[in-house]
Amino acid sequence: MSDPVRMCIHCRGRYLQAQLIRLQCQNNQIQPFQGYGRSFYLCHSCIHDKKLAKRLAKQCNNKTYLTIELGEHIKEMVANG
Ligand SMILES: [Zn+2]
Repeated sequence: MSDPVRMCIHCRGRYLQAQLIRLQCQNNQIQPFQGYGRSFYLCHSCIHDKKLAKRLAKQCNNKTYLTIELGEHIKEMVANG
């Protein structure tokens, strides 16, 4: 049995699923994965990448992600969720 490996949508690196942050977009908001629907993975180094905002703004069709400190936003979500 092997551990599941998933790809970070930003850097396209492959990591063990447990090392990635699983998120989804719902109603144009990024949120922690709720257990259903489409989801995507980010690695911990990518959440502070400046270009990530652009990528997720497109992913979620939400332009406000271009203007906020996205890494902090994701970290908070993961800590609270
Ligand atoms: Zn990454």
